[in-house]
Amino acid sequence: MPPKPDLKSIVAGIHADLAPRFGEGKVADYIPQLARVDPRRFGLAVVTLEGETFLAGDAELPFSIQSISKALMLTLALGRHGETIWKRVGREPSGSAFNSIVQLEAESGIPRNPFINAGAIVVTDTLLAGHTPREAIAEIVRFVRFLADEEGIVTDKAVARSEEATGDRNRALAHFMHSFGTLKHPVDHVLGVYFHHCALAMSCRQLAKAGLFLANNGRNPVTGHSVISSARARRINALMLTCGHYDGSGDFAYRVGLPGKSGVGGGILAIAPGHASIAVWSPGLDATGNSLLGSIALEMLANRAGWSVFGH
Ligand code: GLN
Repeated sequence: MPPKPDLKSIVAGIHADLAPRFGEGKVADYIPQLARVDPRRFGLAVVTLEGETFLAGDAELPFSIQSISKALMLTLALGRHGETIWKRVGREPSGSAFNSIVQLEAESGIPRNPFINAGAIVVTDTLLAGHTPREAIAEIVRFVRFLADEEGIVTDKAVARSEEATGDRNRALAHFMHSFGTLKHPVDHVLGVYFHHCALAMSCRQLAKAGLFLANNGRNPVTGHSVISSARARRINALMLTCGHYDGSGDFAYRVGLPGKSGVGGGILAIAPGHASIAVWSPGLDATGNSLLGSIALEMLANRAGWSVFGH
């Protein structure tokens, strides 16, 4: 076993090393409310399996988790419906942008994976089974609070409304899939719930806590809550590694070597199985829609702590 990394100085060192670059990248502006965020924000939180927490910068400030919610919603859907969801969504990297529609027609309305928008919209559809949209949103918020062991987590209504008002691309994806029978519920219900889970506001610290179960075989080691089986946790990590960064997933695996899920709010949740759950936030994105400095911070952390699923 390599020596235990000095996480306190590693986390502080990453913050200091990146400080001159804060503000780099391009903040998402296709959701107008996201464009209002200060691009110079930067937060980093590492929570170990022992519950030790290391924070830097704006790690306590809530931000819009956006597509990071897709990993949490997949967990909830697998818990409710089991493997049947794989009849309606695939498990292959798409090699396309997060909001791409191109593969859907050739592949009969079945999205490549649950982490592109089309796939997450299908997962959201499964969460509406037996529920009104309002009930589904309430269940989602309860679930995320349970994962993070934090009662204060809420959805940012202004972000949800902003996305609703400008969500033509997601509406196109959803109507297209509805025409194939991939969606069972009315498009406006599904998207209403989808926009709300994307609009969950969480700090890096809360997000890292929420991801702990993925670093510990499906069980939160701090609260003792069993979230999912170890086999499912392992498979969600596999999907995060192969599909969590859209068309940047291969590069993220190469550079960071950890399962990760990004969002256009500039957050990334990364999992170091057996070690820790990590959340980083820097709003500026790269050309593939992933946080530019966030992935650099995770690359530094993985290198300096010696954490990679591929070896030291
Ligand atoms: N809510 C965003 C959308 O649907 C999520 C995209 C993302 O975070 N990559 O466009």
